[in-house]
Amino acid sequence: MKNFKVKLALIILVALNGCKSDNKSKTVADAQLEINFPSFNKDSAFQYVRQQIMFGPRIPNTPAHQKCADWFIEKFKSFGIEVIDQKFQVKAFDGTLLNGRNIIAQINPDIKRRLVFAAHWDTRPWADSDPDPANHKKSFDSADDGPSGVAVLLELARAIKTQSIKGLGIDFILFDLEDYGQESNNESWGLGSQYWSRNPHVSGYRAQYGVLLDMVGGANPGFYVEDYSMYFAKEVVEKVWNLAASEGYGGSFPKTSGGGVMDDHYFVNEIAKIKMIDIINRPDGKRFPYYHHTLKDNLNVIDPYTLQMVGKLLIHLIYREEAGTI
Ligand SMILES: [Zn+2]
Repeated sequence: MKNFKVKLALIILVALNGCKSDNKSKTVADAQLEINFPSFNKDSAFQYVRQQIMFGPRIPNTPAHQKCADWFIEKFKSFGIEVIDQKFQVKAFDGTLLNGRNIIAQINPDIKRRLVFAAHWDTRPWADSDPDPANHKKSFDSADDGPSGVAVLLELARAIKTQSIKGLGIDFILFDLEDYGQESNNESWGLGSQYWSRNPHVSGYRAQYGVLLDMVGGANPGFYVEDYSMYFAKEVVEKVWNLAASEGYGGSFPKTSGGGVMDDHYFVNEIAKIKMIDIINRPDGKRFPYYHHTLKDNLNVIDPYTLQMVGKLLIHLIYREEAGTI
């Protein structure tokens, strides 16, 4: 049954091409069939989640936080990618002076046409949504909240470097200080993305659009459409969700609203005026996963197949953008 569907799709493509037989130039469908996509390794991505957790909670102003940032830089450099370590200080809602580091890795920095992919890497210092109030001041591993998105980006970077991309620039931004916020205080979240949006790593930085990943490692995800993404970047949402459907991921990418989430993409849209969408797990279309900001957000919740689905989707997006077939 599966094979039948694939063959049928190919027949339709061939039939469509046949209609345009006087046109000697390649059709879009031809070009699509010829793209070789580098492979995204789910086990490698899973290891990148594990390695972040092994540093301990990446809470700002702690040695684990510093060591993990150094490791990101090393990792990108090992793939042969240039890195900018954007250090900054900012005051948190509680008056604490936080030492932040946004890590920016650039592929083809000289190309004007760019896409940007982002995730936050810091760990929230408190498990303040834990069902047991006694845990509210405790730290937690935070595997899905931060590391999953970063892991997908690292594996994406590795994969892209195995098959050079010529017509497109790609930036990866690991935002710091996303998760040090206070409920009902919007501006207290996303401190790293707010800083970067006001002080981009390249003055006058522009990108065609951006994709933020947050909590992209849980089993049976519900990547519902996030409201701010729709408000600021409707056409990017449509492109990515349509691509997901055409790749067979429609069940995990419902085309209905999962509500609005105050996340780094909000500030990139609002301050830097760069269109950025958020791929974020809202399993029931309304709420975060059950383990969000609790002691249960640890390696056990990470499903390598979810990391792979998101990674493959982005690889297809990137290479089809480069080929001009999306
Ligand atoms: Zn969080």
